[in-house]
Parts: sequence; structure tokens; C-alpha cells
Amino acid sequence: MNTEKYEEMRPGTKTVWAGEKKFRAYRATQVPVVLSVAYDYSDVDEWYDVAMNRKSGYTYNRMGNPTVQAFEEKIRILEGAEAAVGFSSGMGAISSTLYSFLRPNDRVVSVKDTYGATNKIFTEFLPRIHVDVVLCNTNDQDQIEREIRKGCKILYLETPTNPTLRILDIERLAKAAKTVGAIVVVDNTFATPINQNPLFLGADIVLHSATKFLSGHADALGGVACGSKELMEEVYHYREINGATMDPMSAYLILRGMKTLKLRIQQQAKSALEIARFLQEQELVASVYYPGLDTHHNHQIAKQQMKGFGGIVSFDLKGEMDAVRLLLPKLQYANRAGNLGAVETIYGPARTTSHVECTLEERQELGISEGLVRISVGIEDTEDLIADLKQAFKYLESKNEIIQSIR
Ligand SMILES: *Cc1c(COP(=O)(O)O)cnc(C)c1O
Repeated sequence: MNTEKYEEMRPGTKTVWAGEKKFRAYRATQVPVVLSVAYDYSDVDEWYDVAMNRKSGYTYNRMGNPTVQAFEEKIRILEGAEAAVGFSSGMGAISSTLYSFLRPNDRVVSVKDTYGATNKIFTEFLPRIHVDVVLCNTNDQDQIEREIRKGCKILYLETPTNPTLRILDIERLAKAAKTVGAIVVVDNTFATPINQNPLFLGADIVLHSATKFLSGHADALGGVACGSKELMEEVYHYREINGATMDPMSAYLILRGMKTLKLRIQQQAKSALEIARFLQEQELVASVYYPGLDTHHNHQIAKQQMKGFGGIVSFDLKGEMDAVRLLLPKLQYANRAGNLGAVETIYGPARTTSHVECTLEERQELGISEGLVRISVGIEDTEDLIADLKQAFKYLESKNEIIQSIR
């Protein structure tokens, strides 16, 4: 019996309440973690009906699990989708979605700076099954549109991008994709459903690495695909056979993390904007990337399609790796790690995190300098984060030899 009226809920209320009630048990106020791998049926006919999907229920965890379904329900409602399928990781969701629909001789249009592992699927794995992948310049939306109009099975977008925070116009590109009957897939990990709902902008499938902002606590891997019932049936079928299933404990941790999603995103975005402005004033910073700055080259599109600009800021340090080596150890409120979206602030050079697989030349071609540092802003007090950066930059400036060589 499901009496929740999701349409009437605002996003912050959805993060707390949506999708949970029907999975509760024993009058507990929280969804249980159901670890049992299999389910007991004394009535073999009922068992058969459930196994054949004629009746709702559970038989085996690769097919479905109540805790995982509670997570799927919450994100489904937040993204305004008909259905959602949970995965073991963001890459599980991305690869399974692509392989659900692609066949030899299909064509995919995407951009050069998608997430590193996604890029590897495009350049290493899809060519093996004779899928033709065209990767356009992320800043050239005219080129992307031209490539779409030549025909494609999937248009794959990611916006904002990692780590340079480029913005793609989802509505415009989805419209072009519709004219050639392509499925529009958007990786919404950076924006989260609090700031951007691609399905309302014309996308067919929304993907998340739930490991990042949805979880928010850097202690569980997960992923999810959301879309129409029809498309998600195919994605679900791929998962039940290929097996990149979400673990119930991870589903629980991410479900719990999601309850504070809106609060976290608000605080992170507030600090991110102040940090971006602070960095712009630093003499040792060559450029700052944040879609909330009015100097960002696609600020207008970001303003149209996003409700907020998120918690990721990147910047180029003059002096490149020499300067990065000096700055990062000086930061007090910082994990220096290859992750993002957590409650703690995380600093990561692109060279050792998002683009570690690339050669120097490949990074240069993508416009990623050796001094590019991504900040995933946490939920600490803004003033403390700014003060921390201030003292670290002061130290960097005191290192005269380095400064001389930079200037
Ligand atoms: C981290 C990330 C992924 C991959 O997610 P995993 O959970 O690490 O597999 C995909 N896309 C984006 C934008 C990411 O940041």
C-alpha cells in the first residue's frame, strides 16, 4: 500500500521520505538491510510466478533485493523517472547501460572529456565489438550537433565535466538526437538530481556514480540508471544476467547518505562559489573552473539547466607540479584522494586522479595542465576552508625560488 504522493514533495522532502515506506518491516522507522541471498517458498506455484516476474517478490539477490529496491525507488523519484536499476558501481551502471543497447556497427556520439573510465570504454572496449565511437570537442556544441545528425544509436553526455567543469546544453543536443532516433544518456554524477534533472531536458536515461554525492560519505560503491520502464527493462535484464548487482549493505549506506543530499549540496555549493572567487584573486592561480562564476564560458547554459552549480571547483596552479607538491601537503582540512562528493573536502590533481591513465600529450590535448587541481568541497564551515587555503597559498608565495621561476 503506497500512499506517498511524490509529485507534491519538494526535493529535500523527497530525499528524506521518498520510496522508503513500502520496504519497512517490523514497524521499524528505517529500511532493513536484507542480506539473505535467497528467499523461501513453500508454495512452488507462487515461487514460479515470482521467478517469472508475474508476481512481485524476491527469489535471489542478483535479480532483486528489498534494500536495493528502496534505494532505486528514492533515486527514481528524485530524477522523475519511471524506473531505476541499481549497480555495484558507477562504472557498472555506465558499462551495463551501454552494452544493453549497443550492437556491432552501431554509432555512438559523445565528447572527449567524459569520466576517465567511461572514455576507456569508448576508446578500448566498444571498438572491440565494432561499435563506432565519435568523441567531439566538449566546447564545440555545433560539432556535436553535426555528428548527431549523421545518425547514432546513443548520444552520451556528461555535464558538468570532470575536472574542467565544461557544460553541455542537454536540451539542445537531446533535440538533435531525437531527429535521428538516438537514445540520450546523461551522466548526472556531478550535478546530482538536486541541481539538474536531465530527463526533464529531453534525456532518456540518467546515470549516477552513487559512490559520490548520493552517498556523500565515501564508504560505499554504487551506481544507478534511471529512465522509462521500457528502457530500464533492458538494462535490468542485462544486470540480472551479467551480474553487476548492487550490494544490499552499500544500498543501505547510500540510502542513508541520500537523506542529507540537499543539505550537503547547498553547503558545498555555497563554499564552492566562495572558494572559486578566492582562487580567482590568487596571483599563483592561472585559471579557475566553476560554472557558477559569471566568467565561466557556459555560465548562461548552466544557469538555464541547473538549479545550483555544485560542489566541485578546479584550478590551474602556475608552476605546475612544483607548486602542487608544495601546496597540497600544507592543507589541513583536506583528503588528498581520488574521490569526490564526500562530506570532507578532497583535493586531487587531475594528473593523479581523473586523468592518470592519460599521457602528458593526451592531457594537454584535453586542456588539462599539470597544475590542475580539483577540489571536491566538503560540508565544513566555509570560513575554515578559505582560511586553510589562505595559509597554504601564503606558504607557497613564501617559497621564493618557485615564485621567481613562475613569474
Ligand atoms: C566516479 C565517477 C564515475 C564512476 O563511478 P564509480 O562508482 O567509481 O564506478 C562515473 N562518472 C563520473 C562523473 C564519476 O565522477
